[in-house]
Amino acid sequence: MTGIIKIEKDKVSPESVKVNAYLNPHPLDSDSTIEAEELLWLPGFDARSIDEDGEHPIFRDHNCQIYESIEKMTEDMFRVAITNIWPLLDCYIISQISISIDYTGLLLGNNSLAAYNYINSRPEYGYYRFDLTRSYLLRQLKTLEEGKNLSLKFITTWEHEIVHLLDHWESVKASMYRDSLESSIIYTYYILKYRSEGIAELYYLLKGGIEDIKSIKDAKHRFKINIDSTKNKLRGTNTIAPKEKESILNTYDFYEIGPWIILDLLISFEGGFHREFILSIISDCENGVMIKNEDILQVIKIALRINNQEYLEGVSTY
Ligand SMILES: [Zn+2]
Repeated sequence: MTGIIKIEKDKVSPESVKVNAYLNPHPLDSDSTIEAEELLWLPGFDARSIDEDGEHPIFRDHNCQIYESIEKMTEDMFRVAITNIWPLLDCYIISQISISIDYTGLLLGNNSLAAYNYINSRPEYGYYRFDLTRSYLLRQLKTLEEGKNLSLKFITTWEHEIVHLLDHWESVKASMYRDSLESSIIYTYYILKYRSEGIAELYYLLKGGIEDIKSIKDAKHRFKINIDSTKNKLRGTNTIAPKEKESILNTYDFYEIGPWIILDLLISFEGGFHREFILSIISDCENGVMIKNEDILQVIKIALRINNQEYLEGVSTY
């Protein structure tokens, strides 16, 4: 299917969205410099050197099928996620979703699992771009080979990234704080990361992804400690070194504490209109009860309405 579709959640199905996952760089591209040695880690890769028929390992049919199956597997996983999130995409226009698979690890490194690439996406044309990291692919292929199931974190990775898509414009606005080395700007960016990752990670938390933080109380306590320690690191200096900035921003706490902080803000958000609903969600979550998908989507839908400014004002009283 080609062309732009406008999503009407009950009339258009997730299958009609064009999803294109591709190995980047693709081993079969005419200008590819990928060597067979770099693909040895792919389970099943036939690395025998050029055989009597002159068949080079990179172009061997069997190996080409592996490339295709990785791309198809990525598209299938993404389609499951977009189906789960579908009602939140109501009224969105989509022409194409591209997923660049960084199987060499040279483009994105190994620090994350996947990313919504807001810089290269064009919502006005319905074009959205995502990235998948080598770490994710490695785990996925290994799990498949062992006949096991992926953990919840990996199963909900694409839902997390699609929520970032839904949060596109606030991400763009927050990005103006991203490249500075000025202490006060870094501080704002640091605090905003709890918002963006917190909203995106609500899906995982509410599906039962509870880790060390087990309650709003725990989360607020740790959040306060982190804020104080970050303020201390930045105190008395106008600018900081890139390395120090990296160490402040390189924390899993955005993902673990963030969604709880968002839930806490939602209790009083929009004049406390959602108070009863959110309190019941929090209570279930703290008691380890898995929340229904439609309720999770409802929470995320409300959470996406907390813009950067309202969020910053909300947490300034912590
Ligand atoms: Zn994220």
